[in-house]
Amino acid sequence: MPDSQSAKTVTVIGGGIAGIAAACALAGSGYRVHLLERRPYLGGRASSYEHPGTGEVIDNCQHVLIGRCTSLIDLYRRVGALDSIRWYDRFTFLTPGSSEHAGPPSIIQPGALPAPFHSTLAFLRAPAFSLRDKLAIARGLSSFLTGLPPDTAENFAHWLRRHGQTQRAIDRFWKPVLVSALNEDLDRISVHYAAKVFRESFLLSPESGRMGIPAIPLSELYGKAAGYLRERGSHVSLRTSAESLAPAEKGWVTCASGQSIASDAVVLALSFEAVAALLPALPQNPASEVLAASLAQFEHSPITGIHLWFDREVTRLDHAVLLDTTIQWMFNKSRLQPSHRRSEGSYLELVVSASRSLVPMQRQPIVDLALAELAQFFPAVASATLLKAAVVKEVRATYSVRPELDQLRPSAASPWPNVFLAGDWTATGWPATMEGAARSGYLAASAVTEALGAPQSFLAPELPPSGLMRLFPSQP
Ligand SMILES: Cc1cc2nc3c(=O)[nH]c(=O)nc-3n(C[C@H](O)[C@H](O)[C@H](O)COP(=O)(O)OP(=O)(O)OC[C@H]3O[C@@H](n4cnc5c(N)ncnc54)[C@H](O)[C@@H]3O)c2cc1C
Repeated sequence: MPDSQSAKTVTVIGGGIAGIAAACALAGSGYRVHLLERRPYLGGRASSYEHPGTGEVIDNCQHVLIGRCTSLIDLYRRVGALDSIRWYDRFTFLTPGSSEHAGPPSIIQPGALPAPFHSTLAFLRAPAFSLRDKLAIARGLSSFLTGLPPDTAENFAHWLRRHGQTQRAIDRFWKPVLVSALNEDLDRISVHYAAKVFRESFLLSPESGRMGIPAIPLSELYGKAAGYLRERGSHVSLRTSAESLAPAEKGWVTCASGQSIASDAVVLALSFEAVAALLPALPQNPASEVLAASLAQFEHSPITGIHLWFDREVTRLDHAVLLDTTIQWMFNKSRLQPSHRRSEGSYLELVVSASRSLVPMQRQPIVDLALAELAQFFPAVASATLLKAAVVKEVRATYSVRPELDQLRPSAASPWPNVFLAGDWTATGWPATMEGAARSGYLAASAVTEALGAPQSFLAPELPPSGLMRLFPSQP
């Protein structure tokens, strides 16, 4: 890093994962960064807070990653958070009446065969599927062996029908995996991104598909970035909302909560709706009108988290996929975050992705529904006492990865010189995920270094395929 660069300054607006990634990459390369975040904590949509109704610190929702999330993992390593991720190779699929107490669950985990066959033996043994379902799934997955289909107008529900999938294969495999990974209904999902999820989770290598779960609350995890930045002479301003941006003699001036912050470059690391809200306070030009028109076409999809505290343990599983019910995943937070949870009783979080049916419902009917369904998987729920509950509806959780949305996603370049865009919605090749956000931040940081005359690349290398998958070209 040339000495002359140490004086270059960058304002990063937005302290979600995209902003954290951009800020840390730049600060790590000697740039002076000022990270502005409107809320009192870092992490953005991946954060935790003290829930007012229960007094408990909860994640706004359970967040998981996979081994293929190389830039996110690089960010964790960079800020000293990687030790706080616990990795799992084993996925437990439960149908009502099957649990570790009541019947045989379907365990999907890597076995002795090389990729892409590493989960085949486990699938063959899984009681949730008939032989016909298994053959259909194998046939469907084999379509993604050699690469990803392009992002066309076709949606994934249509693709599944076209590829002769059985109803049970759809209900118990394609849908649960995809709805939770992409937070959308099958008929609103791009075939390209659906294929990406299955190729990377089930085909590329065992390491690519393993699941990482934070063992500490999310704001604590991402809060580690503040220390990293301050140790490198950068600033973090919380409760600071950017209100406008104006070009200055050298760079830009950001007005934020009464401060005027001058810098050589700016990264707008915001959600798509926050960029749309800030656009009128930026210089207008034909390219900014195109950006505004693109932003207007993004749509949200909701996620609901149902947090339940019981007086006793109701399952010894750390997590499970729950099939055939409204509730889709169980995360046993008492086991996942043991040092942050009380030893007596147990705390579970149930997650419902693409939860449009729950959005209009009141809290109590949602809790009643969740309890009744949970008891079908874990009989101990019926005799346990529910001590408290919280329902968190994130109505604007993620944008929908609709077919052909990629045409609207901008690169890091913005309509203004030396201003760059980051955020999970920008063109990263990834859907609305923490990895998409981390990549967007690294891409914006690279664009900053190029614009300021000392180009650097920050994206982490892709995970190589293993076994027979080495024969097929890998795609980002
Ligand atoms: C309920 C839920 C569950 C999810 N589950 C998963 C999961 O399991 N795995 C996964 O990979 N992804 C998951 N995601 C998606 C993931 O959280 C997001 O893709 C990612 O966090 C987006 O990061 P970002 O930095 O792009 O945007 P954001 O997190 O939205 O960050 C933008 C930041 O900008 C701040 N801001 C806005 N306006 C201003 C302003 N004017 N001035 C200063 N600051 C401003 C906001 O407060 C925010 O902190 C989930 C999301 C939700 C909501």
